[in-house]
Formats: sequence, C-alpha cells, structure tokens
Amino acid sequence: MTHIILFGPPGAGKGTQAERIRDNYNFLHISTGDVFRYNIKNETALGKRAKSFIDRGELVPDDVTIKMLAGEMRQADDKNGIIFDGFPRTKAQAKALDDLLNEQNEKIDALISLDVDDNILIERLKERGKTSGRKDDADENVIRNRIQVYYTETEVVKEHYNEQNKLQKVDGVGDIEAITKRLNKVIDQLI
Ligand code: ADP
Repeated sequence: MTHIILFGPPGAGKGTQAERIRDNYNFLHISTGDVFRYNIKNETALGKRAKSFIDRGELVPDDVTIKMLAGEMRQADDKNGIIFDGFPRTKAQAKALDDLLNEQNEKIDALISLDVDDNILIERLKERGKTSGRKDDADENVIRNRIQVYYTETEVVKEHYNEQNKLQKVDGVGDIEAITKRLNKVIDQLI
C-alpha cells in the first residue's frame, strides 16, 4: 500500500486535491477535519470534546486525534493506499503515525507539501467562509490563528519527513486541474 501525506497550511487546497487523488488512485482519503466535523454534527462524545478547540482555531489534543486516526485507518483494506489530509499536524502525531504503520510493516512513502502564499490563503479561506458554513472560516481572527498554529506546531512535520528524504514540494497556486496534474506526476513516481 502507498501512504501519502498531503501537507500544507489551512486553505492550501488539501481537501480538494485529496478527493481527486482518492478517485484517481483508489485510495482511502482520511481528512481528520472532516471526521471531526461529522462528529460535531452528530453530537458524539468525540465531537463534543473537539468542538471548542476547532471553533477557536486551535488543534484538538493529540491523544484524541491519534486514537481517532487509528480507527479510520482500519477502513483501508480494499484500497491501493491512504491519502492523509490534515494529519499529522504535530511532531507527536507524526511519530505516532510512523509507529502505527511500522507495526503493520508499512511506511509513509511521501509528504507532498502544497506551497501557497499566506495572503492567498487568507483570501481563499474568507471566500470559502461565505459558503462552507464553517464557523472557523467565518472569522478572520480565527483564520489567522489557524495559520499561526500551522507555523508554530505543524510546520515541523515537514522537517520530520524531510529528514527521512520523503519531502516533495508542489506549487499550490494555479487552477485546480493544473495542480492535480502536478500532484499526479509526483504520485505516479511513488506507486
Ligand atoms: P483546514 O486545513 O482548513 O484548517 P481542516 O478541516 O483540516 O481544515 O481542520 C479543521 C480543524 O480541525 C483544525 O483547525 C483543528 O482544530 C482540527 N484538526 C484537524 N486535523 C487535526 C489534527 N490532525 N490535529 C489536531 N486538530 C486537528
């Protein structure tokens, strides 16, 4: 199985591109943000735990997130691989993911970083906020906080996989189809 992390700050286009990768390659797509939102909507115990963090633009605690992720990964049996979208977001999550895969004699094949300028990110998220119904897209302060959290807590994950020679960079600015083509080129080399 192929295991790819699609990486980048909020608004980089991970969700949009991950769905395309899922369909093109028959991968399981795990979006931790989507799983949290599903749980919030259905008012599960997990959703109740996660909601306040998400609404403030903070990260949900690692123990909660890692446990949830491990559960989601069990759905990958009939797939060619997994595309991780929004996970790992901390160094502890990256180590936990490496350990989980290691136990199954699997590994991360690549972290693909979608590079987009901060000004463009803020514009995209504000635009998305008009239709997404997401509270965390509706408030510019929360958007800024999420980008800040990306730099303080999440960017280290890129370095973690760079040290393993697994970092691949892709320009995340342009039209959706053009970016998909760039990503496909990278993924075709991995499978
Ligand atoms: P975006 O990439 O636009 O921030 P996501 O849907 O990936 O959107 O995430 C939304 C929110 O869900 C994050 O701001 C965070 O609060 C929470 N979240 C998602 N993934 C994780 C994670 N791996 N660890 C902790 N919190 C997470």
